[in-house]
Amino acid sequence: MRGDYNTVWQDCTVEFNEGESGGEVYPEELRNILGPLMYRLSVYDTEKVIIHEFLHVALDKDYQSGRPFSGPAQHPQINRILIRILNYREPCNPADLDQKA
Ligand SMILES: [Zn+2]
Repeated sequence: MRGDYNTVWQDCTVEFNEGESGGEVYPEELRNILGPLMYRLSVYDTEKVIIHEFLHVALDKDYQSGRPFSGPAQHPQINRILIRILNYREPCNPADLDQKA
């Protein structure tokens, strides 16, 4: 991934919250929050979820500064990165967990 994405990766937190329904991302605060749905996923799928949420933050830094965050608008690009660049297998979002983002 690009160097500036690596910088975002280093600054991002991945948190766990029992009360979170699926996954939530707060791009402005560089926070990704995952919930108990992760218990049902394999390590491989959990990796995809963490990278998915991280990419929301990285793409937000890149393209959407100053505009309202729109997670769904980023999904095509996130999916391309996961499958074509990072070589993950589909589905891109195994738990379909960020209905809000
Ligand atoms: Zn998403």
